[in-house]
Amino acid sequence: MTGTLNALPLDEFHRILDILQTIDVGLVVLDHDYRIKLWNGFMENHSGYNLSQISEQNLFHYFPELAETWLRQKIEAVFTLRCASFISWELRPYLFNFRAHRPFTGMSDRMYQNVTIMPLVSRHGDISHVCLIIYDVTDAATSKIALEEANQQLTTLSITDRLTGLYNRGYWEECLRNEFNRYHRTGKSSTLMMLDIDFFKKVNDTYGHLAGDEVLRRASAILRQTVRCSDMPGRYGGEEFGVLLIDINESIAKLVAERLRQSMEKQTVVFDGQEIRFTISIGMAEVSNQPSATHWLQQADGALYHSKHTGRNRVTLFSAIDA
Ligand code: GH3
Ligand code: MG
Ligand code: MG
Repeated sequence: MTGTLNALPLDEFHRILDILQTIDVGLVVLDHDYRIKLWNGFMENHSGYNLSQISEQNLFHYFPELAETWLRQKIEAVFTLRCASFISWELRPYLFNFRAHRPFTGMSDRMYQNVTIMPLVSRHGDISHVCLIIYDVTDAATSKIALEEANQQLTTLSITDRLTGLYNRGYWEECLRNEFNRYHRTGKSSTLMMLDIDFFKKVNDTYGHLAGDEVLRRASAILRQTVRCSDMPGRYGGEEFGVLLIDINESIAKLVAERLRQSMEKQTVVFDGQEIRFTISIGMAEVSNQPSATHWLQQADGALYHSKHTGRNRVTLFSAIDA
């Protein structure tokens, strides 16, 4: 194939061919017209084509899954620049669509591949061929993907309230601080809404704790449907929730809150054949020159307290409370 191989004693030449044939790595040699010149045992086993079938054939005729335009550009660059090129599975999971050797349950049954494209120098010093070296990295890739998925799930779990699926208090308070700081950077208004289910203790006492849980789930679902995703609804405590209405001033926020109050009031939660009705009280404060996010929260909480003490099932703006 090359000057180096020609210079080898015959025995050694056969030994090297044996190694290339049996090595657990794919080897493909192509000329400049993409004709297959070498196709080792690894490639035969995984593709189902042996060298005698495929030799001298155009690579792209046999493997339509190869992204031809992209791969041609890659290979042309190797011919022109005379330097090797590397394709990671993270960029492109595989070049050849081979079945995985040891498929993981529930994961891809395709073989992930790292590929190196090497220029081969002819005896005249020019690049007449390239060699594709295909490594099966399925084990490493699937482990890495599984780890990343587990980390993603852990991150989601660490910020989510289990019962309602809303943000938990810790994460929600972080969002509150971020939003407060954003206001000081950009001057864009936001309104904080705190809401609490009325006489919830009575729901638990009358229908049982599991029924109470169902009411919490329903109230959270309505909350999620009523506000935008970017508004970040969170569970602040037992039956108390907080929502940041981003880029919304208090008069618009009041309309959202009123709509939310009415939706909750109209609900009937059926649990164990029992029909449960509930209402919520809401307090709101627009971000302004409060000294801290905690003060902002205290204002919305004060407005909520006002709603409770003036009859419940109502909406109060902090700015509307008489001093
Ligand atoms: P108010 O109208 O003044 O808000 O009265 P309330 O009864 O709703 O308020 P209170 O704070 O006295 O009671 C809240 C109840 O919420 C007490 C607690 O047992 C219940 N609670 C807190 N977390 C959960 C939960 O995860 N599930 C259930 N079922 N109940 C909960
Ligand atoms: Mg309550
Ligand atoms: Mg409460």
